[in-house]
Amino acid sequence: MKPNPSLSSADFYDHQAIRDQFPTLKQTIGDHPLCYLDTAATSQKPQAVIDAMTEYYQLNNANVHRAAHQLSTRATQQYEAVRQQVAHFIHAKHQQEVIFTHGTTESINMVAYGLTAQVQPNDLILIDTAAHHANIVPWQELAKRTGAIIKPIPLTADAQLDINAYEQLLQAKPKLIALCHVSNALGTVNPIIDLIAMAKNAGALTLVDGAQAVAHLEIDVQQMDCDFYVFSGHKMYGPTGVGILYGRFEQLNILTPMLTGGEMIKTVSFDRTEYGELPNRLEAGTPAIAEVIGLGAAITFLQGLPREQIKAHEQQLMRYLQQQLLNLGDITLYGVSNDNSQSNIGSVAFNVANEHHQDVGILLDQQAVAIRCGHHCAMPLMSQLKLSGCCRASVGIYTNKHDIDQFIHALNTVKELLL
Ligand code: PLP
Repeated sequence: MKPNPSLSSADFYDHQAIRDQFPTLKQTIGDHPLCYLDTAATSQKPQAVIDAMTEYYQLNNANVHRAAHQLSTRATQQYEAVRQQVAHFIHAKHQQEVIFTHGTTESINMVAYGLTAQVQPNDLILIDTAAHHANIVPWQELAKRTGAIIKPIPLTADAQLDINAYEQLLQAKPKLIALCHVSNALGTVNPIIDLIAMAKNAGALTLVDGAQAVAHLEIDVQQMDCDFYVFSGHKMYGPTGVGILYGRFEQLNILTPMLTGGEMIKTVSFDRTEYGELPNRLEAGTPAIAEVIGLGAAITFLQGLPREQIKAHEQQLMRYLQQQLLNLGDITLYGVSNDNSQSNIGSVAFNVANEHHQDVGILLDQQAVAIRCGHHCAMPLMSQLKLSGCCRASVGIYTNKHDIDQFIHALNTVKELLL
């Protein structure tokens, strides 16, 4: 990495008005303002999301799709409007291709379970080495059920997906490829359009875990041409408890439902049950109605912002963060591409000399700096990097230069204590 050109506050556009909409960030902890650098774990929520959920409970609380009364009609209209909104947000062709789930984990489990009847013994499933456990364990369970074989897609020495190795693995004509769009541990970004095009040429199905991408990048599932794209509301300024399973209509339509029961049926008798049409056939039971409405408010909020400017701001912050860390000395960064050809998105992974990541995190917390330490639900990636874990600082639309400066100052204090 190049040495730091020192930046001043003037280099960052004023986005205080955006930050002001996040009530959590207005607090101090001890004598310090809260410095929240754990957005990759979960983002803070703007007031608009909190208000939308409160309004639903205060005015419109009813179950969806069921009753013949006005509250239920309103709740159903709000709920279904969000499906349309999500379809638009990710550029899906049909709104029936958008399934509400409880999060990325559930979405991937639904696909892995739903494909059971289509997978044969010895079918090959390729998984990104940088994948989150949510994009590994459900495939292992599918392999246990079917006799499929799982192979990791290797990484290069600088922790980027190894395209040559990928190309070689594709010669074995895998059944399915599970990729991450952006790594939650390192912030590395996969060239997803190319990877999917190569997978399609090999005849493979593709699932992309977009949990860490959706808050930072414009998502166009048609352009990407993936079969499945999954993400969680809480990583994109929406509430916990709601997520999305996008699937190409033909693929979703042949998934075996993981959950069965009310709402997902057309007819039920003791002899036979006929499932309903998409999206209902994959949404059994009462959904997370308030959370879906909150997700809709998060999308409206995001769409009201100058996204290109925010993207540029986040990239500038990321560069500043990486450079300030390197300037501090005794810091190892992980997942930074050797030739700087790829910039990381959202997250910076690092360790301080040989100090334990957990000690660093606890000492930072004493200065009101919130980061994440550990294996980041990516143990195979950590073992590839020969690490028991690392620290991760992650940014969002509300992060500003002051946060980075507070973090670096606090980390310097940690260094003085530990080294
Ligand atoms: N995939 C990635 C890349 C993630 O970052 C996460 C959460 O950290 C998940 C999957 C799991 O998401 P959730 O816990 O919301 O289901």
